Parts: sequence; structure tokens; C-alpha cells
Amino acid sequence: MNICLVGNPNCGKTTLFNLLTGLNQRVGNYSGVTVDKFSGKIAIGKEVHQLIDLPGTYSLYPKSIDETIVFNTLTNSNSENFPDVVVLVMNATQMRRNMILASQVLDLGIPTIIAINMIDEANKNKVDIDHEVLADTYGVPVCLISATKKVGIQQLKEQIKEGGKQSQMPAMVSDEFQSHQQKIKEITGEDNAYTNAVTLTLAEQSKKVSAAQRIQLLEYRKQNNISPTKAMAVDINNRYSFINGLVNDMHQHKNNAVTTLSNTEKIDRILTHKWLGLPIAMLVLFFIFQAIFSFASWPMDLLDGAFANLGAFVENNLPESWFRDLIVEGIIAGLSGVLIFIPQIAILFGFIAILEGTGYMARISYMLDRLMRSVGLSGNSVVPMMSGFACAIPAVMATRNIKNTKERFISLMVIPLLSCSARLPVYILLIGLFIPRKPIFGFLNLQGLTMMGFYLFGLVLALAIAGIMNVIIKNKTKQFFIMELPRYRFPQWRNVLLTMYQKAKIFTLEAGKIILIISVILWVLASYGPKGKLQAVDAKYEQLQEQEGGELTAEQNRLYSQEKLVNSYAGHFGKAIEPVIKPLGYDWKIGIALLTSFAAREVFVGTMATIYSVDADDENISSLKEKMLAETNPKTGQKVYTMATVASLLVFFAIAMQCMSTLAIVKRETKSWKWPVVQFVYLTVLAYGLSFITYRLFL
Ligand code: GDP
Ligand code: MG
Repeated sequence: MNICLVGNPNCGKTTLFNLLTGLNQRVGNYSGVTVDKFSGKIAIGKEVHQLIDLPGTYSLYPKSIDETIVFNTLTNSNSENFPDVVVLVMNATQMRRNMILASQVLDLGIPTIIAINMIDEANKNKVDIDHEVLADTYGVPVCLISATKKVGIQQLKEQIKEGGKQSQMPAMVSDEFQSHQQKIKEITGEDNAYTNAVTLTLAEQSKKVSAAQRIQLLEYRKQNNISPTKAMAVDINNRYSFINGLVNDMHQHKNNAVTTLSNTEKIDRILTHKWLGLPIAMLVLFFIFQAIFSFASWPMDLLDGAFANLGAFVENNLPESWFRDLIVEGIIAGLSGVLIFIPQIAILFGFIAILEGTGYMARISYMLDRLMRSVGLSGNSVVPMMSGFACAIPAVMATRNIKNTKERFISLMVIPLLSCSARLPVYILLIGLFIPRKPIFGFLNLQGLTMMGFYLFGLVLALAIAGIMNVIIKNKTKQFFIMELPRYRFPQWRNVLLTMYQKAKIFTLEAGKIILIISVILWVLASYGPKGKLQAVDAKYEQLQEQEGGELTAEQNRLYSQEKLVNSYAGHFGKAIEPVIKPLGYDWKIGIALLTSFAAREVFVGTMATIYSVDADDENISSLKEKMLAETNPKTGQKVYTMATVASLLVFFAIAMQCMSTLAIVKRETKSWKWPVVQFVYLTVLAYGLSFITYRLFL
């Protein structure tokens, strides 16, 4: 059987889903859209069924992608996810609001089981829910459950085994719509559940209707002057008056009015306080940022070390060959380049799951909403944008929580402009070339201040471009926004851990492939070259080695690496693009580093060290700086690294899309190559243009 969980946002669907499926779940996606589809296997008795956690929705009038998915799944019996049984999850403390969706779904005539969740909270609030009233009204089984306290789960499973029941109540159709109803049935040719349940407009939107039928429906609607908005309003009104009576009957045993909301109110008095709210939110966000930025560094170092050891082990135990080099420098290095992101991803999503589970995320979004609106973003984009300062990968993944498509897209496009931690080593090297460590106002220093300037530069640019995109991009779906402030709760550690695990898995399996392939390509470019030249270099150093009696000195080894790189395809690439980057003040050596740093921005420093054959492990990179400063153009005799070149290079690194991993994750998140390519092109053009201007200004 295919079983779908349906319910309002925050009613506990995912908690129930995690409880029923545990680790037996997989994350796919709904066809044609970029929304994760969570499905899993559950064993009930001897049978194994598929359980799908559909996105949360308030009604069957689709406004967002999420709601459209639910609508298309439930109203089209041909859809791949069409349920044999619907488990309608409701929040016991919000029966009235939840009943709108419930009554619409029940009207569809799909076998249904109602699971009234959070019964623990309702009981704490001294609300008794008479589920018999609901069961009698609709003739479907109703269970009272608590997904967190694991109450009533066995009973729910038994009901699932029974297969649920269709609603016995006739579908609600407003009086004035009764006549249209017949016509809709005629046109669509079948007694479609959805035509009974919802309106003509929805019949038009349904995927099950053919193009010809759609035109007929449209014409019929025009002829009869039917306004979809009005029809929806009438429908919702009718439902509310029915539901009011129903819910009153269900709550008839309550001993007391709902009172314990006050805990949430008490906390909110501080956390969303007029003056204190924002600073507290900032503090929390700063803490999370700090965690991705610095707590992640020790597992990252650990991983780095482990892979270095693995590489050394393979290197020592396999005979020297291209195959060994491929394993060590291509594949192991590539794998380490993939897995290195997992700590940051896991930490960020752990915190996001905690913020959402506690209910504080909704408050952060709410408080920061106005601030972000001015550039077309909203409170939802705060966490992804902030994370971008640590690393664009988890940040891009976090845009998934932004429900509005346009806003999500804009965030995704500008996130790489925020200065991530991989830019730090580059900034440090380049800023150190010309800016002295001069103290300013006693406690700041000029280098730090310049660095901060570049962070700010990235942020301002990102917001400006978001603002521009906001004007340019038309939003097709108008949506009214329901901001729900759920009550505060303790986070469920199971949910938190599962989220961390899932996100790490998605990244490794889906973006990892692309990253691995590109890093092998980059390795080939840097270690192979046009015929003859590389062999000549090899021969030269082999001969040298014999003369020296077996071992090259460290200095000779560095020169060997340098000559290999210069004669490789990467070296030739650098020379080939020199005319293109010359207007920015760069020579072909920088060209090489621009290519290799596509693996990760910080590789720029390592490549520079190889090119200038200095010890890459030198902590102060002082010998590298000296050699760079001494470098002159062989033709003109002028210095290569002038203030203008360095400023232009800094601007370039602040903007350019020098990160294959970001491209890979954007591809994964948008499910197409189009957007990563667009992003790469627009950021490269922007970087080129602004670097050119910078170079000219400083010349
Ligand atoms: P979804 O949006 O429907 O997927 O809801 P979630 O599963 O994410 O749950 C929303 C919040 O409700 C989380 O903080 C859960 O811990 C909490 N929650 C879920 N089920 C229960 C329950 O039975 N009792 C209580 N007290 N809290 C619950
Ligand atoms: Mg959920």
C-alpha cells in the first residue's frame, strides 16, 4: 500500500514519519519540482508498505509549490504517489484550523484514517477530545496519538492494517455550486473526487484533466461568470460554519478553557520583546555562525589528517605509477574534498532542526522579516544568508526551507557573494602583501579592517543584486503568507539527528559525484601536459637525482613540482588565458592559480607556493610574499604585484564563482545545470568587470 501523511505544517507529521520509518527512509524528489520527497518503508504485520511524508499545507487550494504537490498527489488517481490510504494528521490543540484541510481531504473519498496528534499537549491543557464525534460524523477511524510520547501508535498501525475508510459524509458543495458540479462532471467525464470536493478552478488545475477538457472548463467558467476567488471564499466559509459546530461538540468535555498557552506567552515576552527580541536573535544567529565557522574546524582537521594519512599509506604501499597518482592525488584528494564539508553541513542542519523544533525559527524569521523585505527576501532567508559567511554549501542547502520560489532562487544566486571561510587564506596572503599590520584606534589593525571591508563588500553586493533580481524577476504565484508562531517545545533529538544524517547523505551522494569528477579532471590538468615537455622535466630531475646519489633536496623537490606544474595543461591554460586576464593586471602564473583554485578557493595559496617554489607549510607565508613582491614581468621589467594588481585580485576573489562544490550543490538544489551555469557566468562577468575597474583605479 501507498500511505500518505497529510496535514497542516507543524502538526507533527515528520515526527510521526520518523517514528514509523526510523532509518528506513529515503529522500527523493517530486517529479519536475525541487522539493524533497520523504518516503520510507513501514512493516505492519507481515506486510511492508510505503509511507510518504507529504509537505504541510493549510488547504487544498494550492498556492505554493508544496501545496501544489499535495493537491496533485491527492486529486489525481494516476499520480505516482496517489495514496491507497491517507493518514490525516491533526494537531489536537488546533482542531478548528486543522479541520479545513481535513474536511477537504475527506471529501476526496480516499480511504482515510484520522490521527489526532499532540494529545499529550491537549491533555495538559485540560482539553478532552471526543474523537467519537469525528468518527461518527465522517465514518472514518480516528486515533488519538502522541508522536513524541509514543502514545496510540500501535492502534494507529492496526488501523493502517485495516486500510482506512472513505468518508460517509457527502462532499461539501455550496448551494450555488451544485448546478455547476453536474456540468463539471459531464466535461471531465468522470465522477472525480476533486470535482465533488473543490471547485471548478481546481478541476481546471488538476493534472488529470486533458487540455481539451481544460478549455471547456475555462469556457464554462467564463460563460457563467464564476469567480474562482469568490468560489473559494464561499467554500471556506461554508466549511468553517460546519466545523465550528463539529469542534464545539468534540470539545464538550473540556474542564477548562485553554490556559497553558501562557508558557509560550511568557517566553515570548522576552524572546520577541520589542527591544530585546532582535539582539537576542542576533546573538543566537551569531552563535550558530560561530559554530559552523569554528566548531566545525576540528572534525574538518581530523578528516583532513585522516585522508592525508590514507594518501601517504597508499603512496607507500603501491608501486609508482599513474594509477597510484590517480588514487592518491585524484580520488583520495577528491573524496576528502567532498567529505570535508560534512561537519559544516551537519552542524548547520542540526541547529536548524533545533531552531525549528523549538519553535524559535518562526520567531527569528518574523522579527527579521521587515529588514529583509526591502531587498525582496524575507525572514526565511536570514539563516541561509548568514551561513554563507561560513560556507556556501550548507547555505545553499538551507535555502530549501524558503517556501517562496522566487525568494529561494534569489538567495541561492547571491549566497556565493558572501565571503566564505575558504576566502580567508587568500585574503590573508593578498592583504599581507601591501597592507601593514598598523594598529588603528588602538585595538583594530589595518589588515583586519581591510579584511572586514571585503566581508562587507560581499554582503552589500549580495543585497544589491538581490534587490535588482527582485525587480527583474516576475513572481508568477501570488501568495498570501501565513506566518504561524508555533508554541515553544523541547526539540526532538531523533528529528535533529535524522535531519543531520539526511543532509550529509544528500550532499555526499548527489553533489559528491560531481565534485569527485571535477577534482579528477583538475588533477589531470595539473599533472599531465602536452607530449614531450613533462617527460623532459622528469628526465632532468631523474638525472639530477642520480648525480646527487639518490635523493633530491627539499629545494630541488620544490623546483621539480614547479616545473611540472608550469609544463602541465594547467600551466598551458594559464599562458593561454594571459591575454584575457592581462587587463586585470594578472600574469599567466596567476592564471594557473585561477584554474586550480576552482577546486576550492584556498588552493590559490598552495598553487602560488608551488609556482614560486616556496615551502607551502611555512606558517607565515613570508617567503611566498617576498617572492611574489620580487616578481617582475620579464618583458617590461615592471613589478607584477603592484597595489593595483593585488586590489584587483582581491575583488576578483570576493566575487568570482571559484568553487566547484558550490556549483555542484546548486545543480543538485535546482535539479538542472542551467542555474549553476547562469550563476557561474554572471559572477565571472561581474568579477571581471569590477576587478578591471579596481585595477584601473589603483593604477
Ligand atoms: P510537521 O511540520 O508536521 O512535520 O511537524 P513536526 O514533526 O516537525 O513537529 C512540529 C513540532 O511538534 C516539533 O517540535 C515536534 O517535536 C512537536 N511534536 C510533534 N508531535 C508531538 C506530540 O505528539 N506531542 C508534542 N507535545 N509535541 C509534538
Ligand atoms: Mg515536516
